[in-house]
Amino acid sequence: MFPASFEYHRVSSVKDALALLSQFGDEAKILAGGHSLLPMMKLRLAQPAHLVDIGAVHELAQIQEQGGRILIGGLATHHSVETSSIVKAKLPILAECAALIGDIQVRNRGTIGGSLAHADPAADYPAAALALEAEMTLENPGGKRKVKAADFFLDLLTTAVQAGEILTQVSFAALGAGTGGVYLKHRHPASGFATVGVAAVVTLKGTNFDKVRVGITGLGAKAFRASSVEKALAGKASDAIAAAASHAADGVDATSDTYASGEFRAELARVYTRRALEQAVARVKA
Ligand SMILES: Cc1cc2nc3c(=O)[nH]c(=O)nc-3n(C[C@H](O)[C@H](O)[C@H](O)COP(=O)(O)OP(=O)(O)OC[C@H]3O[C@@H](n4cnc5c(N)ncnc54)[C@H](O)[C@@H]3O)c2cc1C
Repeated sequence: MFPASFEYHRVSSVKDALALLSQFGDEAKILAGGHSLLPMMKLRLAQPAHLVDIGAVHELAQIQEQGGRILIGGLATHHSVETSSIVKAKLPILAECAALIGDIQVRNRGTIGGSLAHADPAADYPAAALALEAEMTLENPGGKRKVKAADFFLDLLTTAVQAGEILTQVSFAALGAGTGGVYLKHRHPASGFATVGVAAVVTLKGTNFDKVRVGITGLGAKAFRASSVEKALAGKASDAIAAAASHAADGVDATSDTYASGEFRAELARVYTRRALEQAVARVKA
């Protein structure tokens, strides 16, 4: 399968990328790892006339810690997130999530910015970004704006990233004392994507929940915060987990396909939410 013809532009700065995006408008697309865009182009589901390759914008690939926050450049590969000593120490749930994406070839090329901007309904990072309350920095010719994960995923393959914008950084608060988190997924046996994936981050006060954040991917058209589960656990002890997790699929139009029916996905969401919450509690750091 071959994509439709296109013009290829390789840039070495965000400024040059933004200039090309504004010059070519809707006809241009950013190329990062290419592991979602190129398959779409081969299937002719995307036919950009211009590809703006940001692969050489090295400053976008950095991972650093600043003022208690972990800042991950949009071009950081899944492999670099998985193996970063900063991420492993301060956000182990995110390193684990990255390690579960695809296979080593995919992780070596695919980027966190590409995954979040593409917003595949079965992608892994969106669940973790929601549970970790990540903040995305979007750059456009007029400057920068920040969008919280809760406002970022709008619909199937649709995010808050507007035409001509680049997702340059994803910022996370490091997990502190009293907090534990985990990402679990039921892996699609062929693609490795999440049939359903659940990220849970919990903060305990004594033996009771002080804060609970649950992000779910794979169940419906977009990843979401399971607010009914979170509310059901407010102030409760961990014996409330099973009942709360039974609300994981509430109000979601669950996707059915040849591998998994909507009912099966909904049940996976409930079971994986319960397991993720139990494991997150067990991981709470003193
Ligand atoms: C065989 C295979 C298995 C996979 N398995 C999994 C899996 O298990 N879990 C999973 O989550 N994913 C999986 N993926 C998807 C993979 O993680 C992709 O790499 C990722 O979704 C897209 O990242 P990318 O850097 O390749 O983006 P690209 O394909 O280059 O771009 C994707 C889209 O995002 C836009 N874009 C890219 N970067 C930016 C940016 N910085 N700012 C704004 N827009 C941008 C592009 O214009 C394009 O529209 C798999 C892919 C393959 C091919």
